[in-house]
Amino acid sequence: MTVVTRFAPSPTGQLHLGHAYSAWVGWHAAQAAGGRFLLRLEDTDLGRCRSEFERGILDDLAWLGLTWETPVRRQSEHFSDYRAALDRLDAAGLLYPCFCTRKDIQSAASAPHGPDGPIYPGTCRGLSEVDRRSRVAAGLTNALRLDVAAASRLAGPLAWHDRAAGRQTAQPEVFGDVVIARKGTPTSYHLSVTVDDHLQGVTLVTRGVDLFQATHVHRLLQALLGYEPPGYHHHRLLVDETGRRLAKRDQARALCSLRDQGLSPGEVWKLAGVPEGQGPG
Ligand code: GLU
Repeated sequence: MTVVTRFAPSPTGQLHLGHAYSAWVGWHAAQAAGGRFLLRLEDTDLGRCRSEFERGILDDLAWLGLTWETPVRRQSEHFSDYRAALDRLDAAGLLYPCFCTRKDIQSAASAPHGPDGPIYPGTCRGLSEVDRRSRVAAGLTNALRLDVAAASRLAGPLAWHDRAAGRQTAQPEVFGDVVIARKGTPTSYHLSVTVDDHLQGVTLVTRGVDLFQATHVHRLLQALLGYEPPGYHHHRLLVDETGRRLAKRDQARALCSLRDQGLSPGEVWKLAGVPEGQGPG
């Protein structure tokens, strides 16, 4: 089987050394197996994504010497694919509208915490059809959430495999009832990443260990949508001298700043922790 990997940044800021490392993990896994490496721009959050960041991503990766297959998949051009998957989940009775604001969820006193903060307490799960209609009529907007308990019952026990951590029993309930479609958008991170990895034939998802827990949810969505699960490799994250993971706000480690300081691609690969001789070129 041909190995197909991808790097899937969101154009919401400049790439830093951590992104270079992450892109390299995917690129190198494909190279080592004589496979294919894809690039995908995860730009469904139209309010936060900017075309200048998108240009920056393409420039930085090309400057580093990486090559990828074209065309680049831009998620904002594929809302109909996500809508189709959303409709299937909805037809199976697994979604419900949620009218809560972020503040409502934060202030729900008993909310236990998950990997991303407070777990949604299920406030809107039991709303009657009449209540739902009256909220919509009152002009409230809603997200769509997955009824994870019902979905897990339907899917049965699931597992997935991580190259570094081995076999994992799926625990899709770790985030509670996740948002599958954000307010005003027919998708969310979880849905579009699952649909795209399937549609693009990705066989090995490489990404930072910060997204490890999200894979439990993706595995459930794959089962519900009848997709073959890919393999996974969640890699370590780069940290600064204080041990904090690099973030888009860390200007000093932005690839474009390093370029402006006159560093060569080889020097940048070295700073990113890529073993000598294993970068491109
Ligand atoms: N777009 C996500 C990010 O920039 C990564 C998605 C993924 O690799 O699954 O954090």
